[in-house]
Amino acid sequence: MSVREILILPDPLLRKVAEPVEQFDDELKKTVADMFETMYDAPGVGLAGPQIGYMKRVAVIDLADEENPDSGKIVMVNPEIVGMSDEVAVSEEGCLSIPEFYYDVERPAEVTVKFYTETGEEVTRHATGRLAVCMQHEIDHLDGVLYIDYLSRLKRDRVLKRFQKKARLAG
Ligand code: ZN
Repeated sequence: MSVREILILPDPLLRKVAEPVEQFDDELKKTVADMFETMYDAPGVGLAGPQIGYMKRVAVIDLADEENPDSGKIVMVNPEIVGMSDEVAVSEEGCLSIPEFYYDVERPAEVTVKFYTETGEEVTRHATGRLAVCMQHEIDHLDGVLYIDYLSRLKRDRVLKRFQKKARLAG
């Protein structure tokens, strides 16, 4: 296992659509292990493949969530949102690829997600609270969508400008 480099805004890979996983092989399992290690090292509660430049539809989550007590380690391969509530909830989000920024985002309060584990087992799970937020945030990453896309143009531009400037200074 190894800690991978987390790509930071405005890395173009963060805006690409990831490819579905077709083989549940050792490379997938090794990458999932690296993703957990990278996420814990950061530390964070969720990480999607594109954030380490792995352009496959894979995301990992680990949050101790009172509403979802068994929400420990979750590996989502080829996840798909198959249901969502009309009710929405606002909660503060951050992203390992957009360090030091946190903003309130409105999303469906509950989702049902179908996905595969890293061993190819199909799972359908209903999520509420932080887990629902986290799952939607990570699945968005697989489509090149970032949570700042849901903010007002003013707020989004402020974040983008800050990171574009940083990228220029870094050379
Ligand atoms: Zn993120």
